Amino acid sequence: MTPFERPDRHCPQCQHKGYMFRARKTVEADGAKHIDTKYRCRACSHDWWERIPDPKADNQSAA
Ligand SMILES: [Zn+2]
Repeated sequence: MTPFERPDRHCPQCQHKGYMFRARKTVEADGAKHIDTKYRCRACSHDWWERIPDPKADNQSAA
C-alpha cells in the first residue's frame, strides 16, 4: 500500500514544512492519468506542483 500524501512534504525552495493547499487537477502524461496538486509555502510564498499517479486510474486498470 503506497500512501500518496507524503507527511514529510516541504517547500522545494526553502525546505519549510508549513504549506497551504492551493489547487488540484487531473492530467494525462505518458498514457496514464496523474493528479497534480499545487501547494504554497507559508514561509516564502513559493508555489509548486506535486504529481502522483491517479489512484482511481490504477483501480480501473486492475479491475
Ligand atoms: Zn518556502
